[in-house]
Amino acid sequence: MKIIIAGGGIGGLVAAISLHNAGHDVNVFESTKEVKALGVGINLLPHCVRVLDNLGLLNDLKAISIETKELVYANRHGQFFWEEPRGVYAGYKWPQFSIHRGEFQMLLWNKAVELLGDDSLHPGHHISSFEQNENGVTAHFIDKDTEDIIHTEKGDLLIGADGINSQIRKLLYPNEGPVAYSGNVLYRGTAVMKPFLTKASMAMIGSLHQKMVVYPIKDTFNENGNQLINWVANLKGGLGETLTERDWNRQVDKKQLLEKYANWKYDWLDVAQMIENSNTGIFEFPMSDRDPLDRWSFNRVTLLGDAAHPMYPIGSNGASQAILDVDELTNCLNQFNSLSEALNKYDSVRIEATAKVVHQNRKKGPDIILDLMEDRFPDGFTPDEIPHEELETLMEKYKKIAGFDKETLNAKS
Ligand SMILES: Cc1cc2nc3c(=O)[nH]c(=O)nc-3n(C[C@H](O)[C@H](O)[C@H](O)COP(=O)(O)OP(=O)(O)OC[C@H]3O[C@@H](n4cnc5c(N)ncnc54)[C@H](O)[C@@H]3O)c2cc1C
Repeated sequence: MKIIIAGGGIGGLVAAISLHNAGHDVNVFESTKEVKALGVGINLLPHCVRVLDNLGLLNDLKAISIETKELVYANRHGQFFWEEPRGVYAGYKWPQFSIHRGEFQMLLWNKAVELLGDDSLHPGHHISSFEQNENGVTAHFIDKDTEDIIHTEKGDLLIGADGINSQIRKLLYPNEGPVAYSGNVLYRGTAVMKPFLTKASMAMIGSLHQKMVVYPIKDTFNENGNQLINWVANLKGGLGETLTERDWNRQVDKKQLLEKYANWKYDWLDVAQMIENSNTGIFEFPMSDRDPLDRWSFNRVTLLGDAAHPMYPIGSNGASQAILDVDELTNCLNQFNSLSEALNKYDSVRIEATAKVVHQNRKKGPDIILDLMEDRFPDGFTPDEIPHEELETLMEKYKKIAGFDKETLNAKS
């Protein structure tokens, strides 16, 4: 089958590799003219690492990321109340990786070039419109700067993997309106600094009113023993005037953020110093999502990743769910001779699965335990006050909903 993918981000590139391996003729059209390592850290959970392993990417991934050993939760006073091993350290067959999003995208881009050939990847091609009939789909691409039509491509299937501001989704749902803003703003940055805890720990600190997520994204250390650490601050209401349009690349000054976190200094981590040391830009991102759709596939056109199910980046699921979409779409196209049957199955499996994650993330996802502890013990707690069983029930529930409870996942090949 001749497949056109609009969007050379994480979902689009994994789809290109997977569908090429399944024997399809794939072309990827990416809006940006020069694909660069943009973004900061993301996490790849064991359920999507399984898919990447099956695509032969495990060793490449290991070379540029760090295997997350544990997840810890602490209150804003720095007291721990939840610690759990992650990935293979928790008995999963596959690791959890913390990785620089842009470096991961570059790895996928280079792998796609190697497998599909340079002339199957087309940077600088922004999809503007498409039309389809029973014989095929035709996609039109513009140069985003000049808005001139520069290319037209015909195929059997068009996949919209064009991210949170998807043009294909807009064409399929012209009346959908803007994204739903959560009232929270994320500030993301990286710092080269002293490692903390196991040197491969992920820490969630505070409450959803004011939170900080911290984890290393490199398993290497410079001559001073320092490591590249990624952080994401979550502030209710943000730092003042916040644009609600979702743009991953908007930067802010660190001064105001520093004031908010000035007292967050613990014997295991100095949050204020970490923000101070962040010299590669601080990126502001209003946390928003969209209501789940009833349908992603319309004859020869379908959606995947953030284009299909933009969700709050809570619980490390943004990239992971896009990769699970790819796995299901490839399986469905393998399983059915009829495209419409394949896409019906893809819709029925993935819409329900991702809608649950969207809704659960609106209810704070696993971070609900931060608010539980803040509400009950605003001034701190003694060790015997920690409600371990209650916390465990909440954490296990999220894993099941997001599809990465250990028993179910380890039973898969
Ligand atoms: C620059 C950038 C930085 C990011 N930083 C982070 C981060 O720090 N933390 C985090 O959790 N998530 C980040 N994300 C989002 C994260 O990558 C996605 O949530 C997740 O990987 C799902 O992947 P996706 O392929 O659906 O979307 P994305 O990875 O966002 O990919 C979408 C791709 O489509 C391209 N595109 C957009 N419109 C068109 C069009 N009309 N025609 C053709 N191509 C188009 C975009 O340029 C992009 O390459 C970032 C995304 C981007 C684009």
